[in-house]
Amino acid sequence: MPVSVVFRCDFCQSRPDPETQVMLEQQMLDLRHGEYLDMEPGNWLVWHGRGPYGATRYACGAHRGDLKALVREHYGTLGPAPWAMGPHPWRFRKGTERARRILRGLPTWRG
Ligand SMILES: [Zn+2]
Repeated sequence: MPVSVVFRCDFCQSRPDPETQVMLEQQMLDLRHGEYLDMEPGNWLVWHGRGPYGATRYACGAHRGDLKALVREHYGTLGPAPWAMGPHPWRFRKGTERARRILRGLPTWRG
């Protein structure tokens, strides 16, 4: 049975359109840390936190600025990442298959 992940804007609780939903599902598996990503076609913005940068956060097109303000307020002293200026195009998954296996606690010898 297909599992559908529910994404909501952290500010207004709105849901993405179906095409942006697909993009959000795909980028969710991406290994990023302290990075913004644009999600088209709905003009959503994702903050990939992790570690000291906190949770992954989502904003609809109307609340992109609010997301950046929040990230900069909370994490702005932790280096340049929260201050990155757009656009933030997503060029699909980053990180090697080996790195993904290490993160998942799987053996790496099969690559
Ligand atoms: Zn919103």
